[in-house]
Amino acid sequence: MLATRPDTNTVAVTRTFDGIEQATHRVIEQVGGMEAVIRGAKMAILKPNFVAGRNAASGSTTSFALLKAVAEEVRSCGAQPVLCETPGTEFDREATYTILGVEKFCAENDIHILRVDPEGGTGDWMEVQPAGAKKLRKFHILRILQEARLINLPVLKTHVVSTMTLSMKNPMGILPRPDRRSMHTFGIDQSIVDMNLAIKPDLNIVDGSVGQDGEGPLYGDKANLQVLIAGHDSLAVDLACCDVVGVNPRHIPHLKLALQQLGMPSWQRVGEDVGIIKKFRLPVQKGLYKFVFWMMYPLDYPYTWIAERGKHLCTTLYGTGLVGTRPKIHEDKCTHCGTCVEACPLPDVIDLKTLKVNYKTCQRCLLCYEACPENAISVKGYSGARQ
Ligand code: SF4
Ligand code: SF4
Repeated sequence: MLATRPDTNTVAVTRTFDGIEQATHRVIEQVGGMEAVIRGAKMAILKPNFVAGRNAASGSTTSFALLKAVAEEVRSCGAQPVLCETPGTEFDREATYTILGVEKFCAENDIHILRVDPEGGTGDWMEVQPAGAKKLRKFHILRILQEARLINLPVLKTHVVSTMTLSMKNPMGILPRPDRRSMHTFGIDQSIVDMNLAIKPDLNIVDGSVGQDGEGPLYGDKANLQVLIAGHDSLAVDLACCDVVGVNPRHIPHLKLALQQLGMPSWQRVGEDVGIIKKFRLPVQKGLYKFVFWMMYPLDYPYTWIAERGKHLCTTLYGTGLVGTRPKIHEDKCTHCGTCVEACPLPDVIDLKTLKVNYKTCQRCLLCYEACPENAISVKGYSGARQ
């Protein structure tokens, strides 16, 4: 985890036409093999992107096939794969795991799950103050990373707040929520660069098996890229990702800052010459949306002084059903067939009698919307989901 930046980085690009698992084994081999990552450690933390309960087929989250192949490689080096991820603050971790089927998948593939206290504390976390940090001067990283390796498994997708989310942004999901709040409050772009001064994954594999552009990271357009991009240096990997989706990295604010402050990494590309697979449409940055979204974070400080531990302003706001992307059932079109209730992975969210959705427990996965045979469910709120 605390490896120094290599002089020359190898970044491998491979397509997933022969299956994601096969491609994962291949891309690991192309960047020097898993032994060079594990280096005698007994444990490797696998950090996927499980930001919310939107499955990998939507291009929102890391595919299980990738995780399975990485876990096999880790075990073959004598180390235990351990999954660690906390979804976005507005989502519940256990409900997200239920929707995605994380427990079952990990049990079947001998992957341990590390459930850290998302609110911080000294049990799971240790403070770091990276030299040269400009905004995020003090934050907390997983204590276990002193002995474990970190394998970062982001998704290749756009993000309405940070424009894109790749290797450099993905470790935010293993920071405690108070530090994530600081990142948003102080400025997400510089904070991502600062975070990377202390968190240097031993390996990154970006999952572009689907990916997402437009209004990502949850409700954008599926990109169907069928590519994996791997390497040891997060910035070099992210630059390679930009290449395959035709994006100028200087148009991604945190990558632009990283290039200015960390310098252009020296990297050589191996694997397939894929050119531009799909020219990504970057999200339209609505100023008002960005401001309102940002305001939730500074206002969360006074809110958490009076609220129960673990409660945050954004969770409460989304729970009102007045903001955020959310399903709404239209009585005039609904036949009360019950398909949406069956499609919902969580209990007691949709009331078939009243046709109301309980927004306090709904995790906005939109499986009900996709399942409704009558098009009786619409999606309200800022979203790239088609109405
Ligand atoms: S699936 Fe559609 S039609 Fe059936 S109960 Fe749900 S909202 Fe009504
Ligand atoms: S009500 Fe719909 S969007 Fe909400 S959790 Fe259930 S399936 Fe997902």
